[in-house]
Amino acid sequence: MSEGKKTQKDMMEEQMKQFYSFVESMKKSMGLPMVPDMKTGQALWVDQREVTLKFIISIDKIKEFFNALADGKLLGTKCKKCGEVFFPPQKDCPKCMDSEVEWIELSKEGTLLTFTQINVKPYSFAHYDDYIVGIARLPEGVNVTAWIREKDPSKLKIGMKLKLEIVKREPENYYTYEWVPVE
Ligand SMILES: [Zn+2]
Repeated sequence: MSEGKKTQKDMMEEQMKQFYSFVESMKKSMGLPMVPDMKTGQALWVDQREVTLKFIISIDKIKEFFNALADGKLLGTKCKKCGEVFFPPQKDCPKCMDSEVEWIELSKEGTLLTFTQINVKPYSFAHYDDYIVGIARLPEGVNVTAWIREKDPSKLKIGMKLKLEIVKREPENYYTYEWVPVE
């Protein structure tokens, strides 16, 4: 096709190319696939796991969570009215229907409640070795579900202490968090 005679499809492809290179530059500069929406300025999360489609979901209301994660902090929210703590963070309290919630930093210590080894992985996780997913309770009373950095499930015991580490997991190359057994 000659120059200056671009179809709408060409223009869209070009825009998407620019968009994804912008995402790459944001990943380089802040370690997260998070970009502002071109029109509204709201924060978008550009999922890097390719299945049959790439998810782009609005995380504008909880972008503080991801910014803090890149700084090594785990945030939850707390309802100013009833004091309920939420993780994953929620911006509206489902308990008293109030939206006066504040961000709080959570401890990265947990007590293991339950765990399971994942041998049959969902398609988008097929490139990982078998992994263990666990749920642990923080002193703040909320539960955090995450991978546990341990290959051997026999080394894990319900009630044991874990610490949460914020890591960049490969090959996605962005921040997430994992439970690590405390020796
Ligand atoms: Zn509340």
